[in-house]
Amino acid sequence: MCKLIIMKYEESFGRMVSMKSLILSKFKCKQTGACCRDSGYVRVNSVQIQKMASVLEIDVAYFLNNFTIKKNGWTLIAAPNYRPDCFLDENNRCTVYEGRPAACKSYPNWSTIWDSDESLLKEAALCKGLENAIEIVKSEKKIN
Ligand code: SF4
Repeated sequence: MCKLIIMKYEESFGRMVSMKSLILSKFKCKQTGACCRDSGYVRVNSVQIQKMASVLEIDVAYFLNNFTIKKNGWTLIAAPNYRPDCFLDENNRCTVYEGRPAACKSYPNWSTIWDSDESLLKEAALCKGLENAIEIVKSEKKIN
């Protein structure tokens, strides 16, 4: 595909997601806690459970009994209607931050978010840091 066609494609589809790397480089967490409190699932594996239990200075059995549920073979620390605040304190700080799971570390670099401009903008409506990063890139690129 020639460069012009690619550019035309990016203009009409996925203009923002085509700038994923740039947007992510501008991302700075605003610590609203909105992503942690969104009604999704946080799956964890045994290594992640051990790390979080270690940060909290509790044993793994206590962690499993008090902070997890099993669903469809997954171990979850947060799910819709289960621990909606996850490990956030009253200041929206993650109290297991040093041991937080991979999914939390990689946010907002999730394939579901970068599927389309529509999904990206939907997430940006939730996440102030992502919204801000998009605004910075739009301003730098002079995009309306
Ligand atoms: S483990 Fe921490 S960073 Fe991950 S969702 Fe829970 S509170 Fe948020």
